[in-house]
Amino acid sequence: MLNNLIFVLNCGSSSIKFSILNPTTKKKYLSGLVECLFLKKTYVKWKHSGIKYKKYIGSYINHQDALNFIFNQVLSKEKNIYNNIVGIGHRVVHGGKKINKSVLINTEIINFIENAIPFAPLHNPANLIGIKMVMEKFPILSNKNVAVFDTSFYQKMPKTSFLYAIPYLFYKKHHIRRYGAHGISHNYVSSQASIMLNKDFNLLNIITCHLGNGSSVAAIRNGVCVDTSMGLTPLEGLVMGTRSGDIDPSIIFFMHKQIGLSIDQINTILTKESGLLGLSGISSDFRYLEKNYSTSKNAKLSVDIFCHRLSKYIASYICLMDKSLDAVVFTGGIGENVSLVREITLSKLYLMGFKIDIEKNLLIKNGKSGLITINSSIPALVIPTNEELLIAEETMKIVG
Ligand code: ADP
Repeated sequence: MLNNLIFVLNCGSSSIKFSILNPTTKKKYLSGLVECLFLKKTYVKWKHSGIKYKKYIGSYINHQDALNFIFNQVLSKEKNIYNNIVGIGHRVVHGGKKINKSVLINTEIINFIENAIPFAPLHNPANLIGIKMVMEKFPILSNKNVAVFDTSFYQKMPKTSFLYAIPYLFYKKHHIRRYGAHGISHNYVSSQASIMLNKDFNLLNIITCHLGNGSSVAAIRNGVCVDTSMGLTPLEGLVMGTRSGDIDPSIIFFMHKQIGLSIDQINTILTKESGLLGLSGISSDFRYLEKNYSTSKNAKLSVDIFCHRLSKYIASYICLMDKSLDAVVFTGGIGENVSLVREITLSKLYLMGFKIDIEKNLLIKNGKSGLITINSSIPALVIPTNEELLIAEETMKIVG
């Protein structure tokens, strides 16, 4: 039945994901994606009643123009769905130090999200554009907007994980610490893993790997996240599409003092020109790298470095488990689809007890979930993420 629908909006730095779903029945009525914001060709793709649509909406399109298209050309034409929306859930990457759970959005919350921009400079501004435009476009529902934060999942991390070894004052006075990101996805796949492994969530010991354009690993011990690879901002940790992940901080001083680059130039290099794009010199898109793995030296090297770093993180998080490790979980566009990454990474972890099932691994992609290891191995699972569903559930709890 078309009632109690939640509109979920995920305004990313260069993409926008949107969907309308009923969190109770889990039925999705409409879903879509804006790709390539600020690039030569911006497309909106959406799916409604089983029919797929794709429209080119112009060049160098910004968030506002793309959102206007979604509101005016997609949503307003579906009156039956549109009129049954009871709440709007926004993915917000960083809640700063004050917010640790999903909240109804008001002026104070908007201020908190604004104040947290330095911690997620690429993401929070985009999240705010979405929030403000939705409040303007849906005045009737302006008091039914909920922010669901990626950082909430990391609130119970111990100081041993979230503090950097810099003078304590910088944490006390300036709140410099590890905050984590992708919490919504790690949270969702953890709850799915608890169902697949038939183990109480509060007893669950797993390592979740969200591998997409942005990538991160989280260690979950007894149902609580105890460490994660993303830090003060989503720049730390794994090799990502265009972000460097971990580097020696001295590289920044070297680039500044020896090469003469400005702080802004270095920031752009580390966030937009590094990672898989910087290493391969060609693309941040894993589809390309996977296809050219055996023929292009650069593609091979970037994928190998990506897996090398990932396996090191997984191995180090095994030390954080109390008694046993129940599973490693792969999710995100790469984790769900690229068997090559799962195979290379798990092979490096053979000594830790992982033995991949090559055939099963090859078969799991395109939204399938399942086990990719043999019986005598510590299980490795592929679980497609569903951030929209978790956001819709959280939103319904608050507005419902
Ligand atoms: P985001 O962090 O933007 O949500 P996604 O989780 O959608 O990212 O993942 C994007 C990455 O996943 C890209 O590198 C893309 O190439 C890769 N990817 C998505 N689908 C596939 C696929 N079928 N095969 C290989 N790589 C894929």
